[in-house]
Amino acid sequence: MPDYIYLLENRLSPAQRNAVEQVRQAAMHAGMTVFLAGGAVRDLTSGFPVRDLDFSVQGNALKLKKALEKAGGELWGEHEETRTLFFWFPGSIRVEVSSARREEYPKPGKPVYHWSTMLEDLRRRDFTVNAMAISLNEGSYGLLLDPLNGIADMEARHLRLVNNYGFLEDPSRMIRVTRLAARTGWEMDERTRARYDNAREEGIAAMSDWLRGYELEEIGHEEDALKILKALEAEGWMQQLFPAWTAAKADAAALEELHRIYVKLLMQGVHPDLSAAQMRLLTAKLAPKEFASLKKLLPCPGFVQQWEHLDDAAKEFSVKLTAKETSTPSATWKLIANYQPEPVLWLAFTSKSAPVQTRFKNFFEVWPEARQKIPTVLMAEMRITADLPEYGHLLNELFFALIDGKLETEEAMRAFLEPYSPPAPPPPVTIRRSRSRRAPKVEVEEEESPDIVMPSGYDEDDESGHEDEDEHEDHHADEDADEEEEEHAPAKPSRAAKTAKPEAQSAPKPADKAVKPAAPAVHKAEQKAEPKPAAKAAKPAPAKAAKPVAAPAAKPAPKPAAKKAAPAPAKKAAKPAPAKAAKPVAKKASKPAAKPVAKKVAPKPAAKPAAKKPPAKPAAKPAAKKKR
Ligand code: ATP
Repeated sequence: MPDYIYLLENRLSPAQRNAVEQVRQAAMHAGMTVFLAGGAVRDLTSGFPVRDLDFSVQGNALKLKKALEKAGGELWGEHEETRTLFFWFPGSIRVEVSSARREEYPKPGKPVYHWSTMLEDLRRRDFTVNAMAISLNEGSYGLLLDPLNGIADMEARHLRLVNNYGFLEDPSRMIRVTRLAARTGWEMDERTRARYDNAREEGIAAMSDWLRGYELEEIGHEEDALKILKALEAEGWMQQLFPAWTAAKADAAALEELHRIYVKLLMQGVHPDLSAAQMRLLTAKLAPKEFASLKKLLPCPGFVQQWEHLDDAAKEFSVKLTAKETSTPSATWKLIANYQPEPVLWLAFTSKSAPVQTRFKNFFEVWPEARQKIPTVLMAEMRITADLPEYGHLLNELFFALIDGKLETEEAMRAFLEPYSPPAPPPPVTIRRSRSRRAPKVEVEEEESPDIVMPSGYDEDDESGHEDEDEHEDHHADEDADEEEEEHAPAKPSRAAKTAKPEAQSAPKPADKAVKPAAPAVHKAEQKAEPKPAAKAAKPAPAKAAKPVAAPAAKPAPKPAAKKAAPAPAKKAAKPAPAKAAKPVAKKASKPAAKPVAKKVAPKPAAKPAAKKPPAKPAAKPAAKKKR
């Protein structure tokens, strides 16, 4: 089952998403419940391009007119009887907002409307695949309403009547099913087919001008309108709709050329609505009188206007396209890509002017080749990769510079890319300890196993050592947290101490000073303490016990401890690599041992094992931070 929120976010274009949001906001402010419905849901779910957006609101949709105009919609038309508004939103988005209603048919083709709920509205629709809605409301956003199981019919590629009398009540549905089947390749299910054949025999006795006009306009909005016109003609429906309009009245060759240019524009990211241009060519051979009466029937005067205004709009665009300001390739590109796409399409299709044609040829064929010159290897070398936030912007700028011929040499290219190149990562850090403190032959590099417990003092003189250690430590802390969180609640303070550590790193001296007084205290306490029990306790529990409890003081504490405690034993202790030696012990014994220590022993005594013996320093630190 698809996630409908995902579909809304991923299958709609940004311009469509904007239109959805504007309608949703307008409806919400008016206190109306709003749904995306009909063909938009069908296309969204089935994978067909979403051609227009149909909304239903529970309430009077006509009341949304002003708000939607304010939100950027251009009112194309309205139908008071069905309380429907038709809008054209920025980005060439056709929007239909209607009031949820129930329909009664006392006579065929003469509906009576009752304003109702969304669920009832779905039951008055034509086919089950068109009788679905997606909620756009707070609390149920993305919820699919599919009371007639349209999804199943869609999967079966079936067009099934919602209501057994559907074709008789509203014969325009026969025209609709022919159009939809020709477009999608879906077929009527057996029963619907039988009802269609019966109703067709009877012919269309009554169809309102409104419905005729509606279906006539829909032909123009089809992507392959000529194919649909032929299909309707073959079924005899054009005779019912507008007898003068047949496929023979269309300019088929011009339509083909228009489609070719349309596809070229799409490939360069320009998305015009074909409808107006198509309508011009579909009706190319209609007599002027017929043409005029056809236009009058259409429900959207805004659409007719767009269609009539095409030549003027294309002329205006032509002036801009050939102006001085757009003499560079990049300026031309930006103009074509950002202008209203319908006049762009119409000009590209109609213009015979050589300068205009040259510009379009460059736009379609010559300049796109510059994308092949984008120096991906050099960019990788300069660490300019797709994960940089400005990468998309850079690609555009690079493309514009390339088509303007500004990046002919490698130096020019490097200079162009330089501001986008992020700094090189720091070289790998090798941690070296001073000879006096280094345990013989123990050298740890950053990449080495994190299990190594560092001998005393290694990280106190070397900031990078701290960093390195932090990484390990955090890593271990996470693991520890996983393993021990429940058992060792007191371990949490050690995390706090760890997070405080970077401060100590950035200002090591004060930190050292701050901790120094504490350390001797531990040391003294340790000296006074009886060594045997301490040693015993230390054995099973050095790492675990020390970790949660001693961690807060662990980092600063060892230094003075090591200095005041005899340094020589510290070295000796370091020699046998306490960490490695401790590791198996810690691992095996840590859990069981840690529990009682961590739970029962107060922080100070628990520090003992960590700090025990002079060599406790090496043991204490790594054990506190790293060992488990
Ligand atoms: P298209 O992709 O052709 O626009 P569509 O399904 O969106 O297909 P519209 O004409 O925009 O068709 O109608 C929107 C919705 O309104 C339809 O999906 C259908 O649910 C409903 N509808 C339109 N006309 C009728 C009708 N005559 N009878 C019943 N429902 C209709």
